[in-house]
Amino acid sequence: MRNLTILGATGSIGKNTLTVVDQFPDQFCVKSLTARNNITLLAEQIQQFSPELAVVYSESDAVALKKLLMPGNRTEIMFGEDGYRSAAVHPDVDTVVSAIVGAAGLLPTLSAIAAGKHIALANKETLVMAGDIVMQRAKEKNVSILPVDSEHSAIFQCLSGNRKKDLQKILLTASGGPFRNLPVDQFESITPEKALAHPTWEMGDKISIDSATLMNKGLEVIEAKHLFDVSHQKIEVVIHPQSIIHSMVAYIDGSVMAQLGTPDMRGAISYALSCPERLPLNLPVPDFAGIGALTFEPPDMKKFPCLALAFSACEAGGTLPCVLNAANEVAVDAFLNKRIGFIQIPDVINHTMKKHHTITAPEIDDILLADQWARQTAAQWIVLSEDKGSV
Ligand code: NAD
Ligand code: MG
Repeated sequence: MRNLTILGATGSIGKNTLTVVDQFPDQFCVKSLTARNNITLLAEQIQQFSPELAVVYSESDAVALKKLLMPGNRTEIMFGEDGYRSAAVHPDVDTVVSAIVGAAGLLPTLSAIAAGKHIALANKETLVMAGDIVMQRAKEKNVSILPVDSEHSAIFQCLSGNRKKDLQKILLTASGGPFRNLPVDQFESITPEKALAHPTWEMGDKISIDSATLMNKGLEVIEAKHLFDVSHQKIEVVIHPQSIIHSMVAYIDGSVMAQLGTPDMRGAISYALSCPERLPLNLPVPDFAGIGALTFEPPDMKKFPCLALAFSACEAGGTLPCVLNAANEVAVDAFLNKRIGFIQIPDVINHTMKKHHTITAPEIDDILLADQWARQTAAQWIVLSEDKGSV
């Protein structure tokens, strides 16, 4: 039996994780659940899974959540950063599913590592911001960081049973997002509604926009560098619109291992929670004859500059990936709120990265300061552009 904390329980990954838990009640027990403010869904999850602890962001939501629970419910309700930390270090828990979106996932994940919890990592931003520190601390505490991101789960599976020194390169697949075939001169017309409609995966808003700009793939390049300890030069992005191949690993003899499956996050989530055992999820095997063809193409980094920006941040290292991530979060939020257009997203990030003085080998405080600085710098750029009427 594995005892779990799910950070970000009400999100796309959180809900999928609870579906897996529900399917295998003799394998998993939920000890704590956290969310930001979706208290109606969190209340339902509490009734169904009876965790010992549930956490929301604000005190007022904690009060409102208590009122939604049945009389006599014994789940302790906490709020704010202390609450998230308590969930991350819960004494009965052995594995923490890190599925908060964005930079907010970093500190609870570090707390969980410090407390010796194994991590099922969906929150790629944790590794983008502070990959060196996170991997080092995990090593010191002898905890495993198992990927929930489907590409990294695929790479992890393709690496197992092989020697690291035989690796030639990682082939990170990408669906290409909803605008793969849209001519760049029509990018002005992209609305948040259009960008949120991902062709193959059902995901939260932020990662859906990241998939449309290809920033998601850029963040995944940085995530792969840290998770598998490889140089960015050994990571190649390949567009594969069907999302059946979840990623591949090429070896020095030219042999390529791939992991394939129906696009459904329960596969990667359950493998992160149970490997090397595989759970009988009953997901359909892809109907290859029905699909007919699996296709591949190179990414167009001129059309999708976010991917190039992520590669350059990955190469520079230090605080620059953290700055890339923070500026991206601010830009995506501004796009979702219709303050900037789709094509301004890379402009905001590029401007912020250019202004940053990168600190090499940063401590965690340097990372947190760089994150704050980048948010302010990106936000100022957006206000200035609005004033100029250029967006
Ligand atoms: P989501 O927006 O659907 O859910 C995010 C969860 O985090 C929610 O429970 C929300 O309440 C909580 N949250 C948001 N902001 C918070 C804050 N400031 N403090 C505390 N909690 C907060 O996101 P998602 O699609 O489930 O993605 C979660 C993470 O997993 C992201 O890092 C994403 O990149 C990664 N990921 C997602 C998928 C996917 O298929 N959705 C695939 C691979 C990786
Ligand atoms: Mg992914």
